[in-house]
Amino acid sequence: MRAVTFQAPGEIQVDEVPDPELLAPDDAIVRVQASGICGSDLHIYHGRVQIEPGFVIGHEFVGEVVAAGDEVSRVAVGDRVLGTYGTACGECFFCRREEFHKCDEARVFGHGSTLGDLQGAQAELLLVPHANLTLRKVPDGLSDDVALFAGDVMGTAYHAVDSRPLAEGETAAILGLGPVGLCAVQAAKAAHAAEVVAIDTVEDRLRMAESFGATPVHLTEQDPRGEVKKLTEGRGVDLAVEAVGHPEALDLALRLARKAGTVSVTGVYAERAEVHMGVLWIKALTLTSGHANVIKHVDPVLERLSSGALDPSPLVTHHMKLDEAPDAYRVYDNKEALKIVLTP
Ligand SMILES: [Zn+2]
Ligand SMILES: [Zn+2]
Repeated sequence: MRAVTFQAPGEIQVDEVPDPELLAPDDAIVRVQASGICGSDLHIYHGRVQIEPGFVIGHEFVGEVVAAGDEVSRVAVGDRVLGTYGTACGECFFCRREEFHKCDEARVFGHGSTLGDLQGAQAELLLVPHANLTLRKVPDGLSDDVALFAGDVMGTAYHAVDSRPLAEGETAAILGLGPVGLCAVQAAKAAHAAEVVAIDTVEDRLRMAESFGATPVHLTEQDPRGEVKKLTEGRGVDLAVEAVGHPEALDLALRLARKAGTVSVTGVYAERAEVHMGVLWIKALTLTSGHANVIKHVDPVLERLSSGALDPSPLVTHHMKLDEAPDAYRVYDNKEALKIVLTP
């Protein structure tokens, strides 16, 4: 089969690799019909996340089940399915508490041996372990483009907003309007936020957030703290989502949250970063962070995608062929696309 493989920083290629085979009774094999290129793939592309040369990348997918082991009960051969970005065992201490994102045996598709040695989804075929947890049938009427979002980007945005369930009339600020931030705008609106303030420096992204019902605020040409005060009777927002992964964004999130509010950090951190503990403590803020528990959220997210309460389709700016992956990565790396969907 053909698959997109990492070769060296800045270099990926489309290779012929062996077809996957079922290895465990709860494995399934999916013929991939659409796969997404994600910000986390860029970390691999740039060499910040190191994986073995020749490893197949990608972790967002929709496709058809073409083989399934005896213990696969949730889906069957012939079903159109979507997958979550990673797998969980379903049995460990963490899985029993539905903390699937912290499963002792968590594995992420397309991230090399350090994250579970699971070949990626930017390929014609994909081996899916623990298929009863990892796969869901795509609800009738839902497009591949939209279903793709349930397994990663929208699941992550939903998780970020769900870290503080919003009461009627409560408000949110989203810092950083990449795909996750834009989806978080939608998730906050769908959670009935009375006001969603969307902050970034890129005009197109601010306009898109506005079209989703947010109040756009330019990070540098406007005064985000002043704007948020105006919109919240001087208090600050109930929930601030940091969707950047930068200490300055985190600091601004702490300032924008109201007393006893919540700051939800979904941007990625792998290093030491300073938090003004005095601000956190005096304001009695709750700080939440980490990978999203996408397996736990995938069903409610699919429901909302089906009903149209969440609709990330405007984020899909490019469709390209699997064979064009090297070009697609260049386009994505140049920030010319929000979401690229690869098809066979
Ligand atoms: Zn992703
Ligand atoms: Zn587990």
